[in-house]
Amino acid sequence: MNPKVAFFEFTSCEGCQLTVLDTLQRHPELLEVIEIVQFREAMTERSDDYRIAFIEGSCTRPSDEAKIREIRKQAQIVIAVGACAHLGGINAIRNRMPLDDVREYVYGEKKDWFETYPARPLSAVIKVDAVIPGCPIDRDEFVMAVTHLLQGRMPAIPDYPLCIECKLTENVCMFLRGQTCLGPITRAGCDAICPSCGQGCEGCRGLIPSPNLGAIKEALRERGMTEEQIDARLSLFLTYQTMQMEGVTPA
Ligand code: SF4
Ligand code: SF4
Ligand code: SF4
Repeated sequence: MNPKVAFFEFTSCEGCQLTVLDTLQRHPELLEVIEIVQFREAMTERSDDYRIAFIEGSCTRPSDEAKIREIRKQAQIVIAVGACAHLGGINAIRNRMPLDDVREYVYGEKKDWFETYPARPLSAVIKVDAVIPGCPIDRDEFVMAVTHLLQGRMPAIPDYPLCIECKLTENVCMFLRGQTCLGPITRAGCDAICPSCGQGCEGCRGLIPSPNLGAIKEALRERGMTEEQIDARLSLFLTYQTMQMEGVTPA
């Protein structure tokens, strides 16, 4: 019997789910080996009997927690899909700001109508078995993840820096092109797509284990970036992780 699979979303732009849909259209053979029982973006049928849960989006409201725990209770395997679920993502930028100011900025005089709290990755709420990083996720990595799950193993996600992949791609380094890049501290796996297109990496796949933040900040300073610009660069996707490293986790 094909494993029953469900997709869920919390706070996100749903871009990772769209990438999954696109991937399934390019690889319809995947639909012959899994049974999708819940996927709001793709189907109206819905069953709560599933073994593998792919969850997109970060936890941004107290009420999200109960729903996330419910999914964890049902699923044998939980996979965090994309930077929002994996890292808290762009949503976590607000974690360094007074929450009331953020609410006021977003909702104005209706700020008390909306439930919200600091954004966090799924792993801050439940045990996550594996992640598919990126913003959005990489199509090939999704196919690889499903293949590995069907083989009874967890998706193998690189834990080395993007620079290794970038060198293998034979790119001229962004720093040598007078620009900047977060490749030295970012997890590989996207084939260094941004440097290959002439853009420095923004860190959407998250930090490698034991990243040297001091050295990357120094390199960015040497390229003329101000402390404010450096903080902004490191906050796009990495706020939750850098706050964790500082021992300042959101309340
Ligand atoms: S990781 Fe990026 S593409 Fe995926 S849901 Fe979050 S914001 Fe959208
Ligand atoms: S462009 Fe970025 S990822 Fe590539 S080698 Fe330079 S710092 Fe590393
Ligand atoms: S190069 Fe960096 S920002 Fe671009 S997709 Fe890869 S990890 Fe994300």
